[in-house]
Amino acid sequence: MSLLDHLQARIRLDGPMSVADYMSECLLHPEFGYYATRDPLGVQGDFITAPEISQMFGELIGLCLAQSWLDQGRPSQFALAELGPGRGTLMGDILRATRGVPGFHDAAQVVLLDASPTLRAVQVETLRDHAPRWVDTITDLPDLPLFLVANEFFDALPIRQFLRDGDGWRERLIGADGDTLTFGLGAQAPQVALTHRLEDTQDGDLVEICAPALPILTEVARRITSNGGAALIIDYGDWHSLGDTFQALRAHETADPLAHPGQADLTAHVDFEPLTRAAKAAGCAHTRLTPQGVFLERLGITTRAQALADADGKARDTVIAAHRRLTHPDEMGNLFKVLGLYPSTAAPPPGLEP
Ligand code: SAH
Repeated sequence: MSLLDHLQARIRLDGPMSVADYMSECLLHPEFGYYATRDPLGVQGDFITAPEISQMFGELIGLCLAQSWLDQGRPSQFALAELGPGRGTLMGDILRATRGVPGFHDAAQVVLLDASPTLRAVQVETLRDHAPRWVDTITDLPDLPLFLVANEFFDALPIRQFLRDGDGWRERLIGADGDTLTFGLGAQAPQVALTHRLEDTQDGDLVEICAPALPILTEVARRITSNGGAALIIDYGDWHSLGDTFQALRAHETADPLAHPGQADLTAHVDFEPLTRAAKAAGCAHTRLTPQGVFLERLGITTRAQALADADGKARDTVIAAHRRLTHPDEMGNLFKVLGLYPSTAAPPPGLEP
């Protein structure tokens, strides 16, 4: 039995499945799912993320969150939380960079949410000195001020795709043709969740919605509103999705998303506008959507890169390359965006504007 066999059996039984159901099965199936069976990060894996490129990323995120904590009167207990912490590298760098902030570590309870048992095992090792706690759902976060980061987490949540057809939509579905999986389209139907997209799309346009992102964002925003805190959501995407951004990555190359179920990373660009609407509905303020390069420059990445290069001449080229990769508009600097959440009574996190 393989994941392909399982998917084909499911399609035979229930008919074609949504892209969201396909993504869930491929990423999270307990036996054959991508995240269940491997550590996908790094040179040996399928993709590399900002914290895996350089320690500078996590250090600056750590100082940004610590400054927000100071600005909000140093709450004596708070949750320092991460969604989808991968190998724990980002949280490790956050904790190292904030060692010198008086009282920050004593007040912090490190809380992690991750669906991958393989990566959780790596996080246990990386963060063993900091007694992290894992939660299975967002509602299990402690009822405390919440300082949270999510880097490349929302892009892994399942999306549905819809093709505009007159005043309605046809859902993109996945069926089987012999041994291969193929895309098709469902019947035309109205979609309440897409009513507002009738204004900025035309016949034949494809839009995406990520339903699971909203309850997660709402819960984070609700806690920040009632208890204080801040959240940094970093991902590739834009204000509104337009077009097909469903993609597979395998060994650092893009692949056909239907060709290797369970063996390739599947993601979609994050549509930030619905996240900001959910934040506002929960009474939480949000910052402008800011390119990652601009955010990191404002936090002082160039000064930090200089210091690292001066401290270790041999690392100079690597540090310069990492700085470029994280900030340059032709690399990750523009494709990746940062959205900050904060209480409407507080200042926005450093590096971001209201
Ligand atoms: N933030 C890390 C890892 C990004 S990869 C970094 O920047 O390096 C995506 C992470 O999200 C992985 O840790 C994966 O296990 C986790 N993840 C993916 N889908 C998830 C879901 N539905 N619920 C919880 N965690 C999920």
